[in-house]
Amino acid sequence: MKLRLCASIILGLASNSLAQNARAVGTLFQVDFTTNNEGGCQYVGQAFMQNILQDSLDLLRVGTQLVTDYNNNVAEARRLLDSFFRVANPPMTAAQLQTIGTTINGVGTWIANGGPVNNGQVTGIPYLFCYHSWLQKQTMSSPAFDTAGETYPNIYTGTEMLLNQEQMYITRQQQETNALPGSTKAVPYWSPKHRAYIFDRGYAASLNAGPCTGNGYFGVTQHSLNPSSITLCPQAFGAGSNANTPANLATAHYVGRRSVAANPVPRATVPTGTGNNNFQKLGALTPTAITLLHEIFHLVLGNTATYAPVGEVYDLFTAGTNVQVVGLDYNYAVANPESFALAVVAYDYTIANGANVAGQRVEFYSGYTTQG
Ligand SMILES: [Zn+2]
Repeated sequence: MKLRLCASIILGLASNSLAQNARAVGTLFQVDFTTNNEGGCQYVGQAFMQNILQDSLDLLRVGTQLVTDYNNNVAEARRLLDSFFRVANPPMTAAQLQTIGTTINGVGTWIANGGPVNNGQVTGIPYLFCYHSWLQKQTMSSPAFDTAGETYPNIYTGTEMLLNQEQMYITRQQQETNALPGSTKAVPYWSPKHRAYIFDRGYAASLNAGPCTGNGYFGVTQHSLNPSSITLCPQAFGAGSNANTPANLATAHYVGRRSVAANPVPRATVPTGTGNNNFQKLGALTPTAITLLHEIFHLVLGNTATYAPVGEVYDLFTAGTNVQVVGLDYNYAVANPESFALAVVAYDYTIANGANVAGQRVEFYSGYTTQG
């Protein structure tokens, strides 16, 4: 009992310490709202960005409530966390619950106060980009830039030094190629902001291709270049999957937290562990803020703490033996930003919708919107 008491005191402090207001986006991040060039966020706008930052913090405060309620045996909190952070014999231990609370509190504290990122290792103010155009795709036969962004001569040939003539870049390309899945060859990208190269997939043949190219890319966080950066893709703001560029999104589309109506059905009527489009899924209720919130987990906690050995899990349901957020094992879930993001969105709706006459609340532990 003593251990449990200590845990609840700590959790209580954690939930009280999260501030009401997010820090100004322009002080938390280096972000440019005056242009769409080089990853600028003009098409999103400062007020919009501040709104989703605030939504992210508000959702994390709901997360601390979720942890406190689990600790206090609130049935809805128990069912939700036991489904999304699965342990062999629920309820989870005080230490396991504390890990979830500390993680949520750490990310929320950063949104309120700022500070170092990448698990405390990077003190430079991170960039926030709204497209991958801050990266300029090169080939290994492109001229090499120095740290001033200038080309320089190859003293042996007397002409411009090329990337494939510098052993450092040849080695880095090989290392990144080895880290990529399949036979994909890594491509050099120049960042004028960092005045340095990053090696990554080519995504598509086009020189304009990057991490926002293709269906399903909403955002990415990198710690290879200093300062770290979050890149949000136009698709995260409502652009179509085949038009994932700022130019194809005249106005970013804001979906606030709790703004989509929950449409619950009795739990007994929905399937278990599989997708069915006849019922409303939690994914249909996610606010715009969820991508930024997800990426801030990667930003603040760093790569090691936010990539589980099974890889990132985004899908609530997957067929067969693939891993999915609903039913993800605790050890994986605590390193999976989407598990946190979806759990706090779910509990936000549980709190907001209250109870029916039978005392039943709107819940999402099955991955679907249910009541009773
Ligand atoms: Zn992620």
